[in-house]
Amino acid sequence: MSDGCLRWVMAVACDRLANELPPEECSRFDDHLCCCDICRGFFQSYTVMVQMTRALPAGPLPERLRDRVREAMARGDGPGSAPPDVV
Ligand SMILES: [Zn+2]
Repeated sequence: MSDGCLRWVMAVACDRLANELPPEECSRFDDHLCCCDICRGFFQSYTVMVQMTRALPAGPLPERLRDRVREAMARGDGPGSAPPDVV
């Protein structure tokens, strides 16, 4: 496989990382990375990227939303109260 192999690798990279590929596809994947520099390079950066993403704390809420939530909590609004006006 040469043409479009990177597209295939990109498509299954996530599953490969999560060990969710069927065994035969998993070994096809690993075999391919051994002989294809481009895909190996891609998968290495992909792995690093995913690890960095996981290492980050959960993303902060958008500031506006956070303020809204804080205001709502301060007012004691609960579910069932009037919906917040959308700006
Ligand atoms: Zn390849």
